Parts: sequence; C-alpha cells; structure tokens
Amino acid sequence: MSTDVIAKLKQMAADPDRVWIRGGQTYAGLLAETGRLSNTLVSLGLRKGDRLLLQVDKCEAVLSLYLACLRTGVVFLPVNPGYTVAETEHFLRDAEPALAVTDPGRVDGLAALGARVMALPELLARTAGQGEAFPDPAHDPDDLAAILYTSGTTGRSKGVMLTRENLASNAEALVGLWRFAETDVLLHALPVFHTHGLFVATNCVLYAGASMIFHRSFQPAGVLAALPDATVMMGVPTFYSRLLADTGLSHATVAQIRLFISGSAPLSPATHAEWQARTGHAILERYGMTETNMITSNPYDGSRRAGTVGMPLPGVGVRITGPDGQVLPQGEAGSIEVRGPNVFKGYWRLPEKTAEEFRDGWFITGDMGAVDVQGYLSILGRAKDLVITGGLNVYPAEVEAALDDLPGVAASAVIGVPHPDFGEAVVACLVAAPKATLTEEAIRSLLRNRLAAFKLPKRVLILDELPRNAMGKVQKAELRRRYSDLFAAA
Ligand code: AMP
Repeated sequence: MSTDVIAKLKQMAADPDRVWIRGGQTYAGLLAETGRLSNTLVSLGLRKGDRLLLQVDKCEAVLSLYLACLRTGVVFLPVNPGYTVAETEHFLRDAEPALAVTDPGRVDGLAALGARVMALPELLARTAGQGEAFPDPAHDPDDLAAILYTSGTTGRSKGVMLTRENLASNAEALVGLWRFAETDVLLHALPVFHTHGLFVATNCVLYAGASMIFHRSFQPAGVLAALPDATVMMGVPTFYSRLLADTGLSHATVAQIRLFISGSAPLSPATHAEWQARTGHAILERYGMTETNMITSNPYDGSRRAGTVGMPLPGVGVRITGPDGQVLPQGEAGSIEVRGPNVFKGYWRLPEKTAEEFRDGWFITGDMGAVDVQGYLSILGRAKDLVITGGLNVYPAEVEAALDDLPGVAASAVIGVPHPDFGEAVVACLVAAPKATLTEEAIRSLLRNRLAAFKLPKRVLILDELPRNAMGKVQKAELRRRYSDLFAAA
C-alpha cells in the first residue's frame, strides 16, 4: 500500500519552513487550514461518504478543500466553473451532494435547483472560529476520495469514483519516475477541477515536499515571466503551442527548468520539435485519463519520443486487444486496456456501465493504440473516433500526424462523416499557421505521396479554430455534428 495523501501532508508539515505555494502558504499553514476546514465541514453536518460539490474559479482554497475532504472522508466533487447552472444540474441530481460550495454569483442559480449551497467566502469565514486541531478518523485505502465527472463529449457525463489508494499510488509512481524533489518548484497554471491540475500536479508537489507557483489561469505572458523561478512545468499541448507563438520564449527563459511535461491531449511531433529547437528541452509526454490517473510516461533519462506516450508506470499493466477481446501481438493496433492500483472503482451509481467497461479485471480505456518494439505506446485516437471507410480502418492520429507535418498547418483534426458510398468518409479540419495560406487542393495533393489512397481526406476544411474543451482537447463529436451533412447531396 502507498502512503496516504494526508499522512504525506503531515510528514511534510513537520518542517515549519517548507513552502507549499510561493508567496502564500507553508505546509504547516496548509495543515492548520485543512484542520479548520475539516472542523467546519463537520460542524455543517458533513459526514464520511457525503459529497461536497465545489464549483469555483481557480484559487488556492480549492486545494485546501480537497485536502480537508480527504481528512474528513467527505468525497470531493469539483466541477468546471465554466459550466452553466443548467449543465451543473446533472451533477447535483446525480451525485446528491450534501453541500455545494460556489462563487457568490452562482449561489442563487444552484439554490434554485434545490441544492444546499454556500458561497466559498462564507465557508472560509466560518473557519475563523474553528480550531486547527482535527482528530483524523481512520480511513481505508479503498475509501472514496473524489468523484470527477468525465467531460462527456458523447452522452451523459459519468461520475468517476477515485479511491485514496488510486491517488496515493499514482503520486508515488510519478514522483519517482519524474524525479520530483523538495527543491522543485512547479509552475501550476492548469485548471484544478480536472485530474491533471488537481491530482497529477498537486500530488507530485505534495509527495516530494516541493513548492509551486500558483497561477489562477494560463496567460502566456505571466507564465513566461514566472518560468525563470520554476524547475518544472506541466501543461496541456495548447500551453506549449501558445508559448511558442510568443516571441518572449527563449533558451534564457527556461534556463532553470529541468522538466516540461505534457498530457491530456496529443502533443503533435511538430510542436515537440519546435519546442526542442527553441528551448533545448524535449517535452516529456505522458498519457492518462480521469478513470485511470496516469498510465504511461516517456522516460526521464531515455529517449522522449515525439508522437508516443512512453511505457506503463511502475505497477501499471497495459495490453492491446482486438475486436474479440483477444490480446494482440506486439506492434498491432487495437484497444488499450489498463490494470493496476491507479484504476478507478467504478462509475457512480452505474454498476452496469462499469461492468461493461471492464474485461477480466482490465479497464477498457476507449483509446486505440499500438506498442512498438522498444515498448513505447502510441495513441491512435478514441475508438469512437476511428473512421471506417469502404470497410477499411483509418486511425485519425495517423492522418493528423501527416497533416501536422505539412508547412503552414498549425492544428488538425480528422473525423469520419456519413458517406453514401463509403459508409464514412475521412474529413480533415485544419487551422492554418499565422500568415500561411492553405488550400484544399494543395493539401490533398501534398498528402498523396504520404498516405494510402483510402486514408486521404475526401474533404479538407480550413477553419479559423478547432472546437476545444477546457483541457485543450479537440471536440470531435462537435465537428462530426457540424459536418454530418457534408456528403448528403452526393
Ligand atoms: P480525461 O479523462 O479528460 O483526462 O481524458 C482522457 C483522454 O485524453 C484519454 O482517454 C485520451 O483519449 C486523451 N489523452 C490523454 N493524454 C493523452 C496523450 N498524451 N496523447 C493523446 N491522448 C491523450
């Protein structure tokens, strides 16, 4: 078993000078605050197993509340503050939180849905009257720590039940793999309602007793100004492409940095190469999902290979299976399945859906991939995004890699849309780099020497931007909806 998050917090707080957030709290201050918050939650009647829904703009208190929930056994349920009241209704109905904490402007909207709501400033004000000593109850590693809802690009969003051991085991694996040490300073500019910013970033810092520079949102200028004081940055691919678009990025800006990590969406080999040329750093790409925490990572010391997500984390098993569930030989493309202490307990109140997504104890990720001879996994896209055209499989990631390689292409997304002859047709959606002019004909003819005919996009659409979610992931379901009639008249 791994060391529980709260045990780790207490261990780190024993050093009164250890800094949690630069310019903010020490670990000792954090432990005291989580004690006051825990007493406050208990005084409000919250008990172990109750859910606390938190929907606020990013701020330091989110992390303190996450830890207070772990201390009390209350299940932490963070929600994207970008969701409207109508969108949040599903989480309230489904999770039935004992308390919803939100920004003052959202209180009335959530209260109108019948929830017990409190504004975050009010909750924090209540902690003033509370003692910092909190008698921590005993917890089981299998107890629920948090419920995170999937982004739900297709169908209803599901509550992912994560245990204390899921979080602890993943933190220990990542700290070792990425060599986190107490001297590290992580630049934190990710959202804190998602596994990446909430668990990966925060728990790596906590388990190493390191510090963070905490930015409330990602602003390229602010990040560039802070990089000289940091040693590690974790980001989604759009962080890297947006920083590359800023002339302020140079070798000098990143002289102190020992590691850049990317995940949550595919990092294009072109961005990887450009980043290396501009900064001298090979970005380390890793792969994970809300249900599984982190699964694979490129190596710290060995070659960090663009377009791959590396090898399984210690203690984590990955296998590739075919359509009938058979394990495929190395090199063949198929469905990615995962097993290990990182894998979630199930979907909240959806036992049948949970059972469907597991095969002999392995979780079916819904991603397609292949492992090369050196053991590096490549992600070929979501199974749902696989295009079957004229009976042949086209993996969007392969076509996207060919497109991203062409001069003047800033970003691409390949989808399948209904086609009267082929069943589905491959369609490429592109965004041009600044000042580049792309034409459909030119792109198609450049691709002709790179891809087999059946993989060639039947149409190439040049867009101003691709629809993305808060983590920078392209929303392919939205693109498919938009262009579903493209070949209707054909
Ligand atoms: P989420 O649960 O929101 O974190 O989304 C998880 C999904 O993001 C995975 O199932 C993958 O489809 C995708 N993903 C995460 N990391 C990567 C990566 N490095 N490369 C490609 N896709 C990724």
